[in-house]
Amino acid sequence: MDYDVIVAGGGLAGMIAAQSVSYYSNERLSILIIDRNQQLSLGKKTINGWVCGDAVSKAAVDFMKERIKVEWNKPEIEHHVKGVIAFSPDKETSIKFDGAGYMLNRKQLPQTQYAHSIKHGIDFNFGINLVDLIYDSQNVIGVRGYDIKSKSVYKKTAKVIVDATGVTSLLRNNIKNTDKMEKKINKSDIESTGRHIMYFDNDGEKNLREFDSEHCLIHLDQDIAPGGYAWVFPKGDNKVNIGVGVEKSFLEMRNRRLHKHDNLASLINQYVKRNKSIKNPRLSESLNDRSNATGTWQVSVRRQNDCMVSNGFIIVGDAAWMPKPLDAGGIGPAIIAGTLIGKNIVEAIESKDTTENGLWKYNTDFIKEYGYKTAGLEIFRRLLQTLTNDQISYGMKNFLGSSDIEAISSGKHPDFTVLQKINVIIKGVLNKQLINGLKFTAKQNKWLTNHYDNYPKTPNEFYEWNKQLHQKLDEAYMTISK
Ligand SMILES: Cc1cc2nc3c(=O)[nH]c(=O)nc-3n(C[C@H](O)[C@H](O)[C@H](O)COP(=O)(O)OP(=O)(O)OC[C@H]3O[C@@H](n4cnc5c(N)ncnc54)[C@H](O)[C@@H]3O)c2cc1C
Repeated sequence: MDYDVIVAGGGLAGMIAAQSVSYYSNERLSILIIDRNQQLSLGKKTINGWVCGDAVSKAAVDFMKERIKVEWNKPEIEHHVKGVIAFSPDKETSIKFDGAGYMLNRKQLPQTQYAHSIKHGIDFNFGINLVDLIYDSQNVIGVRGYDIKSKSVYKKTAKVIVDATGVTSLLRNNIKNTDKMEKKINKSDIESTGRHIMYFDNDGEKNLREFDSEHCLIHLDQDIAPGGYAWVFPKGDNKVNIGVGVEKSFLEMRNRRLHKHDNLASLINQYVKRNKSIKNPRLSESLNDRSNATGTWQVSVRRQNDCMVSNGFIIVGDAAWMPKPLDAGGIGPAIIAGTLIGKNIVEAIESKDTTENGLWKYNTDFIKEYGYKTAGLEIFRRLLQTLTNDQISYGMKNFLGSSDIEAISSGKHPDFTVLQKINVIIKGVLNKQLINGLKFTAKQNKWLTNHYDNYPKTPNEFYEWNKQLHQKLDEAYMTISK
């Protein structure tokens, strides 16, 4: 073997995973990070840049700092916020969640991560496009690709390969040594998202529902962001990350309903234009944002992959579909999984069992820390996408009790206890549908979190567990789409 561990993809998740392996092995294990970008473009997702909303909760960053002693500071942290506020379409109701957080500079962050990794003895190979895995019988033992400049064939082997190549991962798509790991997802579980990083004159209209330098703002609105949401995240008093995420089929329905022909780019530009607090906006030309001021990319909004390990292979971050189904926040779960993964890999290598069985605990550790709630949130997201603006505004105003707001604040599915007790006669078919839908997702969520609490401790029990999961999910998808 060339290395103990190879991390495919030197983006946010890949570098944390490598740093975690280094930390838990006391730098004993040899680690190689491979990326298709050159060093100065590490973490770049597409030709359009390091496309992201840039927001992350302080709690997630602290989780990494406490466990694997990796700290993020200035300049990768550009701005501090006190939390995220989501507004109903009529803007009359708002919910605050996630607590204190940071606005990152995603272009700078990989450079800080790179410096830290080099200091801890991690090797890098740049400019390599990985296309496949190398197998020895049923075990993954390496990666195969080509050198982008010379076009020469590239191969490297290791005891464990970590796939952190993001949502479009070819390695996961073509995995051959497992029938437990999912290879592809439904198109409807992917949001098309895009954003601008802009400076503006801050003597525009003062309206904290449109721009708040202390809070990340989310606008739920099926006309502005069909099947998704729009955001105004502050990067300073006169700097903003402003964007829109949509689900394609809901965008098409919205266009038919409003007789329009909008696409993601036109929706983003209209969203910027209608914001009177952001006066005279212009794309950032600062060096820190060069080649990163505007761009679109995709993000998954479903539960993480049902199984994240196979013999010699393990997936993390967007490659494992970790972003939170409700708000597409993928940095937090990537930090959590990246932090945990090192311990699982080191234990597997030290016990000389890097098979699916030896790596299995990564599944249960991630589920215990974060993944237990994602299937429930996926169902809730599917319901939310079907609601009209009036239903969302009505529901947020009338059906969210304090325990629900608390649940949402900590990223969990609300129980809608208010609804369970409701005796008054609710007027209107749409509101009855809404109540039934909310009660239904709350019930499904209870079952799903309980099911994830019982995620199999060994690979053998997986098939039965997974069968039950899919029966429940299929039933829920059917009910919601009726
Ligand atoms: C518009 C938008 C807004 C978002 N906003 C937020 C937000 O505000 N907060 C939040 O928490 N999350 C947000 N997300 C999600 C977040 O950006 C991702 O979850 C996060 O970047 C995932 O990191 P990753 O390392 O798993 O993948 P990526 O960031 O995609 O990194 C993948 C890395 O792998 C490399 N790579 C890919 N393929 C290959 C290959 N074949 N060979 C070699 N190398 C390869 C790439 O060069 C890159 O360095 C947003 C996403 C989008 C698209």
